[in-house]
Amino acid sequence: MADELVLYEVVDRVAVVTLNRADKANAQTPQMLDQIDACLMRAAADKEVRVIVLQANGKHFSAGHDISGSNDKTTGDDEFPNDWATSGLESIYEWETKRYIGYARKWRDIRKPTIAAVQGQCIAGGLLLCWPMDLIIAADNAKFSDPVVRMGIGGVEYHGHTWEVGARKAKEWLFTAKIFTAVEAEQYGMVNRVVPLDDLRTATMELAQQISQMHPFALAQAKRAVNQTQDIQGFYTALQSAFDIHQTGHGNALVVNGYPILVDLDQMKASLKQS
Ligand code: ZN
Repeated sequence: MADELVLYEVVDRVAVVTLNRADKANAQTPQMLDQIDACLMRAAADKEVRVIVLQANGKHFSAGHDISGSNDKTTGDDEFPNDWATSGLESIYEWETKRYIGYARKWRDIRKPTIAAVQGQCIAGGLLLCWPMDLIIAADNAKFSDPVVRMGIGGVEYHGHTWEVGARKAKEWLFTAKIFTAVEAEQYGMVNRVVPLDDLRTATMELAQQISQMHPFALAQAKRAVNQTQDIQGFYTALQSAFDIHQTGHGNALVVNGYPILVDLDQMKASLKQS
């Protein structure tokens, strides 16, 4: 079990999906993303499950997408694009459409309440795991950041920023690559509540249990009403539009650098370690 990237269990009608790559700060490999998706879909399909919790083992919720290059990026029948000279933007676009924005959208539309429990660092792609959940409980040590502008791109693939914290704070967040504390994130409406780190799992399960007592169809309708309201406001099409803007960043970097981001990876890792 210690070797599994993602753990799954059901406790009193609550499915608990646990990121289990603690030694790498839960940096997301393609295999890990596919397993998270499989677990969330399993929970979505299980009639016994009323509420889904996404949590993480270790100090940090997630350091984002694993860009170390050291992991095997081959999964199933499609391969991570790495022959940049010939694969160009198309392969990146297809890859990210499926695993980044595609998964995040799919999870956001699961017809059951979902709760993320976040502790420690939640960096860039980490936001793509917690944002699509309906509720976010943050430990008091949680820190949220998107330093993707430092890579020459205007933010992570799934542009939740403006919706999560409002336009002005979103711009400050992106322009400065700053870190929002848990308290700031609650103040801006991005997280539902902040609890002491030691209470994170208990508080999350209590909330999940409370919600699980409600009528499942009514919960699905309530979720649909909120999501549909956002979609009518343009959420869904804005996401696709911002995703395409994100791809022009990769395209620009490919032309300038021959690699889809503009920074040196070692430099990037060093700056992330300092934050
Ligand atoms: Zn990207």
